[in-house]
Amino acid sequence: MGLLSKVIGAIISGAGAFILFYGMSDPNMSWVWFFIGLLVISIGFQMLTAGGKQKAPKPPPPTITEVKCDNPTCDFKEIRDFQKGDYVLKPLDAKCPKCGSKMTIQGVYIVKEEDEKDKINV
Ligand SMILES: [Zn+2]
Repeated sequence: MGLLSKVIGAIISGAGAFILFYGMSDPNMSWVWFFIGLLVISIGFQMLTAGGKQKAPKPPPPTITEVKCDNPTCDFKEIRDFQKGDYVLKPLDAKCPKCGSKMTIQGVYIVKEEDEKDKINV
């Protein structure tokens, strides 16, 4: 991801430099192309530096979602990756693969590095 944005940033910077020098060959439009070229180069360099910064921040701690079947006689339980919009007691569209009943999110946990689980109060 970071490498890709760097490559794109380099391409944009190169395109900006091309516009800059191409515009200079046009005596009437040179200042317009000059500013467009500068703008494009600055966008390209912003992408280059942004790509480098992405390495610094730690990734957010992994969050998991505990899904349980609504059917009291069914013991189906699933732990899956947290998805955007998940919250405790959220009814799911997905049906239980065991009995076909509806399923509800029973818990959302942050997995700490020590493997401890903290319940989020939503
Ligand atoms: Zn079930």
